Amino acid sequence: MTERGKAPGGSTFPLPLSSVTGGGARKPATPAPIARPQTATQNAARAVGGAQAPKAAQPGPKLPGYAPNTQSAPAAQRSDLAATEAIRRAMVARVAGQGVRDPVVLGALEAVPRHLFIEPALSSQAYVDASLPIGHHQTISQPYIVARMIEAMREAMPDGKPMGRVLEIGTGCGYQAAVLARVAQEVYSIERIKPLHELAKANLRPLRLSNLRLHYGDGMLGLAQVAPFDGIILAAAGMEVPRALLEQLAIGARLVAPVGGQVQHLQRITRTGKSAWTSETLEACHFVPLRPGTA
Ligand code: SAH
Repeated sequence: MTERGKAPGGSTFPLPLSSVTGGGARKPATPAPIARPQTATQNAARAVGGAQAPKAAQPGPKLPGYAPNTQSAPAAQRSDLAATEAIRRAMVARVAGQGVRDPVVLGALEAVPRHLFIEPALSSQAYVDASLPIGHHQTISQPYIVARMIEAMREAMPDGKPMGRVLEIGTGCGYQAAVLARVAQEVYSIERIKPLHELAKANLRPLRLSNLRLHYGDGMLGLAQVAPFDGIILAAAGMEVPRALLEQLAIGARLVAPVGGQVQHLQRITRTGKSAWTSETLEACHFVPLRPGTA
């Protein structure tokens, strides 16, 4: 690859950290707390009654499996389902209150049963706006940040129009992939840790999302065989956005990624031409690191 993309002000891609931390970060309407990976451990400890007493689980709302056909469900299951939906609506209202406006994204967030992606001991925390551990030192992302990234990726889309082909790097437990599958026609998601790839497959199976494909591999390389993508989201933070991913964006398409180390910001990159990209720095965030290779 010999071309170097030009960003406004002449920065080249891959973008160095210095080009994304130099101010200009857009503030959300209500600043969202920055959830850190270690916050997930604290959230989990709170969910199970404190780290010293991991067995003393707090009774939370009983969360049934996803059963969209409420007509045929028994009465008790119907009321569980209604309770879960009410809790989920409240979560979506909080996310909207933090500044996410896109109705398509909020609708998708409301449709995906997040509790199915969380281990049973933590399911009472499923609709708290927090990241939670999913094993292998990784986390399920905070609902606000999931929604914000998808909104940022979609921002230029004409109202109500679904996106075509979207790529996610870092499937984790599969939650964001499920939300993406409700806003795009085709979704590809790559995970580098084999047991998490398998976990995501198991979590997503009951949702029967026929437009979602999971891949095991190094997402830093993207998926050249399926490119170009109308949108790319990274769910893990690198010091720069991998060049291969920039090359796999369609012209006019957007990539949203956390960039940085200890200090991270969401960055949105738009491909404006064959060899041209522009970038914007959005709000502060905190994600687990983007790592090369597979595990
Ligand atoms: N999308 C998830 C968040 C997962 S956390 C959600 O819906 O909540 C980020 C994930 O990125 C981790 O599972 C981590 O293993 C993965 N990851 C890190 N580097 C990667 C890479 N190079 N390719 C693919 N996945 C990667």
